[in-house]
Amino acid sequence: MRGTFDSTSAFENALRQFDRAAKTLKLTKNQIVMIKEPRRVTEVQLPVQMDDGSIEIFTGYRVQHNTARGPAKGGIRFHPDVTLDEVKALAFWMTYKCAVVNIPMGGGKGGVIVDPRKHSPTEMERLSRRYFAEMIDLFAGDKDVPAPDVNTGPQVMAWFMDTYSMHHQAFHPEVVTGKPLELGGSQGRETATGDGVAICVQEAAKHLGIDLGKSRVGVQGFGNVGKYTALNLHRDGCKVVVLSDETGTYSSDAGIDVPKLVSHAGTHRTLRGIEKTHHELAYDEDPSKILEWDVDILVPAALENQITAANAPRVRARLVAEGANGPLTTEADDILDKKGVFVIPDILCNAGGVTVSYLEWVQNRMGYFWSARRVYQDLEEIMTSAFRTVLETSLEYKVNMRVAAFIVAIKRVTQAAELRGLYA
Ligand code: NAD
Repeated sequence: MRGTFDSTSAFENALRQFDRAAKTLKLTKNQIVMIKEPRRVTEVQLPVQMDDGSIEIFTGYRVQHNTARGPAKGGIRFHPDVTLDEVKALAFWMTYKCAVVNIPMGGGKGGVIVDPRKHSPTEMERLSRRYFAEMIDLFAGDKDVPAPDVNTGPQVMAWFMDTYSMHHQAFHPEVVTGKPLELGGSQGRETATGDGVAICVQEAAKHLGIDLGKSRVGVQGFGNVGKYTALNLHRDGCKVVVLSDETGTYSSDAGIDVPKLVSHAGTHRTLRGIEKTHHELAYDEDPSKILEWDVDILVPAALENQITAANAPRVRARLVAEGANGPLTTEADDILDKKGVFVIPDILCNAGGVTVSYLEWVQNRMGYFWSARRVYQDLEEIMTSAFRTVLETSLEYKVNMRVAAFIVAIKRVTQAAELRGLYA
């Protein structure tokens, strides 16, 4: 299960990251007000009929942070801990994530306060349709294009797309991404985020002179992002020596056979019990052990706030690739920076997912579908180019990769906002 952000700290953290880059760029007050705060915040109360005939009211949000560069883009999550602050922070990050990889989209995010485990599929379908219907004027392929997030997957996207299409009496697959393949989803979306993380690691290794064939790797989290990152790095010749998920830490100094673990997780959902059949694996029930492991490359790909001021001094990796959103606290970021650890920031490192979402939207608008190979080629080109631009910026401004990523992104959003000017 994915983690959720502590709402206040997430938004504060986001704004702090922005402020550092804005200071380096010497942005004017006018430039800052144009791009810092969300442009549209919508809250709705959603009446939904339960299977027993009773009616329950749910609160839903959609935040469009910035649309200067294109339609808002960002997922919708269903979770009991959703708050408006959290949604605002996540929408903010989407604006800058899209800008770092230079796809023509802005930032948005949505959420509904609901615990999906307490509801039947039919109740979830009615809730999903009501959410989309209640805010139907916000969404469109050229306005705001949602995607899956925590507890929303291809099925929910199919309900959103159908609700929108029935309302407009026309077929509109481009209104959401992350759809099932049968309804216009893209090849390669499933692996995209992990593919993108691995592409960033390859680029960083070249820059740092790390020989991937001789490097020891640890990946925290074995869900969508962690699993495909580990698989890619294993195929690239890295020795993956430690993996973890919510059930513990699994290691082998000789190197883990990652495809075997992927197959186990496919059947059992988690890695629990794998050490009983694969005796080469050592097991520790503490999943956080991985963060201090003797590795060259560490990929936190599970939850936010995993590396903190408490454990950052003991991180041994030379390269940290943020597969998850916000896995380092601001304090940990400073500590790793002082230690000379090269951190690939989340808004760059895990942007492979939104990049292939963008490619899905492009394919939907053309009505023509690409092979998995074609999608991967475009992903690789976009991620490699983004990484190199951020690296050049970091060398030019003498700042770390996180500040550099924000500098690249803020410049692009500011330029778009200024070129458009004020409509009034
Ligand atoms: P997921 O739910 O598929 O997987 C999460 C994994 O983390 C699971 O293996 C779980 O067991 C593990 N985990 C939970 N608690 C843990 C702990 N204490 N220690 C170690 N592992 C633990 O989620 P995901 O889609 O892989 O997303 C992971 C992170 O990446 C989140 O921060 C998410 O926001 C971010 N992200 C995901 C995507 C995407 O396309 N899926 C894109 C960008 C960013």
